[in-house]
Amino acid sequence: MNYFSLNNNAPKVKFKEAVIRGLAPDRGLYFPEEITPLSSDFIDNIESYSNEEIAYKVIQPFVGNEIPEKELKKIIDETLCFDFPVIEIEDNVATLELFQGPTMAFKDVGARFMARCLGYFNSKNKNNEEITVLVATSGDTGGAVASGFLGVKGIKVVILYPSGKVSDIQEKQLTTNGQNVSALEVNGVFDDCQEMVKTAFLDQELKDNMKLTSANSINIARWLPQMFYFFFAYKTLKKQGIDKKLVFSTPSGNFGNVCAGLMAHQLGLPIFHFVASTNINDTVPKYMEAGVYEPKPSKETISNAMDVGNPSNFIRIQKIVNNDLYKLKKTFSSYSFTDKETRKAISTIRNLNGKYIADPHGAVGYLGLKKFMETNDQVFGVFLETAHPIKFRDTVEQQLGLTLDIPSQIEAILDKEKESFVIEDYLELKSYLLNRQLKA
Ligand SMILES: *Cc1c(COP(=O)(O)O)cnc(C)c1O
Repeated sequence: MNYFSLNNNAPKVKFKEAVIRGLAPDRGLYFPEEITPLSSDFIDNIESYSNEEIAYKVIQPFVGNEIPEKELKKIIDETLCFDFPVIEIEDNVATLELFQGPTMAFKDVGARFMARCLGYFNSKNKNNEEITVLVATSGDTGGAVASGFLGVKGIKVVILYPSGKVSDIQEKQLTTNGQNVSALEVNGVFDDCQEMVKTAFLDQELKDNMKLTSANSINIARWLPQMFYFFFAYKTLKKQGIDKKLVFSTPSGNFGNVCAGLMAHQLGLPIFHFVASTNINDTVPKYMEAGVYEPKPSKETISNAMDVGNPSNFIRIQKIVNNDLYKLKKTFSSYSFTDKETRKAISTIRNLNGKYIADPHGAVGYLGLKKFMETNDQVFGVFLETAHPIKFRDTVEQQLGLTLDIPSQIEAILDKEKESFVIEDYLELKSYLLNRQLKA
């Protein structure tokens, strides 16, 4: 499989090179040259396959012969070390819980897969050149990447996060790892972090001194495995005998997750419609309404992992439909919600059966789903719950007037000391990367 740059001004590359580069030399995102639907026989009989078998079928064509079958199966086994429950919370509405992994965020799937692919490529690299993974995070990416890469040989991880704009638990997950992981605290917002990472990839002096790659959802090894759980959820619902048209609502920030869903759809997964639900960072909902794409600076919200003003993966979504907005509207809608609506939804969900506790991101997903279902009955809706509520503890506890139990994964890091460097601008990042490299 070849990957080309969506800026159309860079050579085509294979999976390995696209993963190691992250972004193409012309700053474009990589996109697969072919998307071949899986056999209808496989989709029709999906319940007879294990999650690992499904994942292998889904991802293998995208990896090609760059990772041998046995190794790829091992990578998948190690990636899928947790469950993906689908829980019905009211008639025709279920949540797909994606937070059962080590950092309790859905990004664990992509991060673990990517870390193991890079680890494999590095182990085959004869001159043992170290790879530095540079990642900007608005909250959850960094923790998942840190945990996914922790202790992976030959790889260093540098995380940039916006100072004061991630939750306490998220910050602990970013700054207490040690080993091959370090955290840089940026005086700015997430978009500043993301911009610095993009600039670093174009910096010739850095390129001459180190091998840099990204672990944001722009990296195909983080983005593509996110297709897995759309298939898993379909399998679960099919097993339960649900035969209505399926709608998936994905709380969206950089739009990598929902774009992976659209890719799963391209592979033949029978999903009727996708809803990308956002907070007030509404660049895409506005585009769907007005046909004009106008990136804006990000605004702070209680669903901070989605505080993104210029979603990097939207260009991939446009590519999937060949920039045809009319075609896009047939399978895709996008709605935005305020923090006030989100808080209220946390209560609404809780009151459905007195049990289910959603985090602010999941609550946004729920709102988008319900909005779509207002005008489309006869569907079965699934909203993705992308983080455990404990990660947004203050908001959830205040809204519901209760105290959440602390899961063991989180408890283990709460007492650890934060370690981070504060940086102001790109030059400080560059000097950090260069000096660190010289020391090593
Ligand atoms: C990253 C993240 C999102 C947004 O996912 P995208 O793929 O960037 O759209 C939503 N919820 C949580 C909890 C996240 O960490």
